[in-house]
Amino acid sequence: EFRWDIDINEVVRGSLELVGSLVVKSTSRFQDMLAPELPAVTANPQKISQVLINLLVNACEALTGREQAITLHTAYDVGKDEVVIRVRDEGAGIPEELMTKIMDPFFTTKREDGGTGLGLSVSSAIVEEHGGALMFTSKPGQGTTAELRLPASDQIS
Ligand code: ADP
Ligand code: MG
Repeated sequence: EFRWDIDINEVVRGSLELVGSLVVKSTSRFQDMLAPELPAVTANPQKISQVLINLLVNACEALTGREQAITLHTAYDVGKDEVVIRVRDEGAGIPEELMTKIMDPFFTTKREDGGTGLGLSVSSAIVEEHGGALMFTSKPGQGTTAELRLPASDQIS
């Protein structure tokens, strides 16, 4: 497994290049707010990109109209020495009773639309491998926030 010190903002920009057209097709209100400077994270950038893409695609698929916003945010949590990435959408939200299931392999509410239910299970495995955390908060009818936390590299080395 290849890992090195990376700038999460660069991974975010690269991921946006890959799914940008889907995002723009899905919402007229996309906004990214990248921290001007972030500490390095020891990570495999391809894998982190895969997680970001899964989160962004899910955000797009949750929207029911182009006026609903998606925001992508990066920040540094000084207290925990962690880099934080948030993908927030104003889409359908996740019903409370499904919150514990969404990371299960093959769990999907998109069976008719060809959902595999693998995006979040693969993502949570990747995040775990990196010593990070992936958490969701959601209000049905209002939207969802996915928060990805990765330890800054000075914490591990
Ligand atoms: P898939 O997208 O193929 O269904 P995922 O593992 O990516 O599989 O997601 C699992 C389920 O979690 C989705 O089917 C959906 O019900 C729920 N989900 C994930 N992200 C969101 C989101 N941003 N808004 C609403 N529901 C979500
Ligand atoms: Mg998905």
